[in-house]
Parts: sequence; structure tokens; C-alpha cells
Amino acid sequence: DDGIVINNVRKDYRIGKNAVTIFSDLTMTIGAGDFVAIVGPSGSGKSTLLNLIGGIDRPDGGDINFGHARISRMSESALTKWRGANVGFVFQFYNLMPMLTAEQNIELPLLLTSLTARQRRERVETILSLVGLTDRRKHLPSELSGGQQQRVGIARALASDPKLLLCDEPTGDLDRSSAEEVLAMLRILNAELGKTIVMVTHDDMAARSAKRVLRLDKGQFVEREAA
Ligand code: ADP
Ligand code: ADP
Repeated sequence: DDGIVINNVRKDYRIGKNAVTIFSDLTMTIGAGDFVAIVGPSGSGKSTLLNLIGGIDRPDGGDINFGHARISRMSESALTKWRGANVGFVFQFYNLMPMLTAEQNIELPLLLTSLTARQRRERVETILSLVGLTDRRKHLPSELSGGQQQRVGIARALASDPKLLLCDEPTGDLDRSSAEEVLAMLRILNAELGKTIVMVTHDDMAARSAKRVLRLDKGQFVEREAA
């Protein structure tokens, strides 16, 4: 099973001679197929946690496991490979390449895989239709609405068919109706494709889309029942 297990994790940032402890002893489990919203005050370490779970950053103590993989102990190259196969990232400001079309943005992560051009094209086709953007495939990000750009961002995150989607404020730059559209998509990816989703958010509507809400405050988690 590909659950995430975080055991006694410590994370410090060093700034010059000073160290700031973000968590000293964080423990939690996120089951495979779960949809978790992480909420809490600005600066509480939500993005840090997402970076630790996604193997972009490493803990200073404790361990993080994804299924049988102990990601906190992997070498840099093993971690990069693990990330490419297992994790998709969705960002607040989409992080699309402005001079590439929707379909080229989605294809980008596939260029790092062993898929042939034909297999990449088929994969992009499938994902475009999944996120409802087939008729926008040739558009540049600047020619798309915010909601459409975020759907391209989600499609790119899905390109290599990862089990885990990590979303940092995915609705933070969207109006209500675009936000609802993006959240509906995340709920479908979770319920129908079984993606495990961990989403950092300040948005109550987004938090209500999740199955679990974890509040991070002063380096500890408090579980709240999802509404
Ligand atoms: P949140 O996402 O909850 O707003 P962050 O994880 O971004 O919180 O940041 C938690 C704290 O750690 C903040 O005080 C932030 O300024 C600090 N921080 C984050 N990243 C770094 C870094 N790379 N170096 C030093 N301090 C950092
Ligand atoms: P958010 O609050 O949405 O996480 P921030 O602007 O606080 O956004 O941080 C964005 C990123 O910048 C963080 O994930 C972290 O890597 C980096 N960062 C934040 N605070 C600091 C800091 N004090 N020093 C260095 N890097 C930081």
C-alpha cells in the first residue's frame, strides 16, 4: 500500500548562525487514496511539509516513508527518479511555460521518460480529454482563463500517472466558479482514479472538498473532521 507515514520528523532552517525549528516531532499517516487538506496560519510550515512529503526537501530528523520507499534516506538521484514516477505538483500560480501551448506544457514531464513520441502524444490526448481541454490544446497559457490554466497545471501533474498529487493553494488565484471547477476535478481524480491528494489551502471551500482536514499550528497537527 502506498500510504505516507511521517515519523517524528524534525525540520530546521538555518539562517546564518541561527536555526529556526519548524517542527521538532511531527508524526502522521496519510492513507493511499486519501484526500487531505492542510490548513493553518501563514508561516506554520505547510509548504515545508509539502516539500518534505514530495521529496523536494529533507527532514533533519525522523523518517518519511511512501509505501516501502524510505524517501528521507534516498540519495539525491534516487529521490529525483522516485519523484518523477510517484508525485505530481500543482501550484498556486500554475507555473506553466508561457511560450508553450497547453499540450506542450502537459507533454513536458514526459520528455524525461522513456516513452516514444507516439506514446507521449496518446498520453497527452487522454489527459487533455480527462481535464476537458481538448479544444484548448493549441492555446498558450496567456490565452486561457485562470481556471483553464490550473487545469493544464493539473494535467501536467498527472502526465506520468503519479499516485500522489501535492497541491499548494491550488485555488489561491482563482475566482469562486473557477475554484469550484478545479476542486470538482480534484475530487474526481481522488474518487475515480484513486489519486492520493495532499492540498495546502487557506480556502474554506477547498478544505471542504477534502476527506480529512489537518490543522498545522505551532509544529503540531490537530485533526478536524471534514465538514
Ligand atoms: P506556510 O506554508 O505555512 O506559510 P512555510 O512552510 O512556507 O509556511 O514556512 C514556515 C516558516 O519557515 C516560515 O517562517 C518561513 O519564513 C520559514 N522558511 C520557509 N522556507 C525557508 C527556507 N528555505 N529558509 C529559511 N526559512 C524558511
Ligand atoms: P507560502 O506562505 O505560501 O508558503 P512563502 O512566500 O512564505 O509562501 O514561501 C514560498 C517559498 O519560499 C517557501 O516554500 C520556501 O521554500 C521559501 N521561503 C519562505 N520563507 C523563506 C525564508 N525566510 N528564507 C528563505 N526561503 C524562504
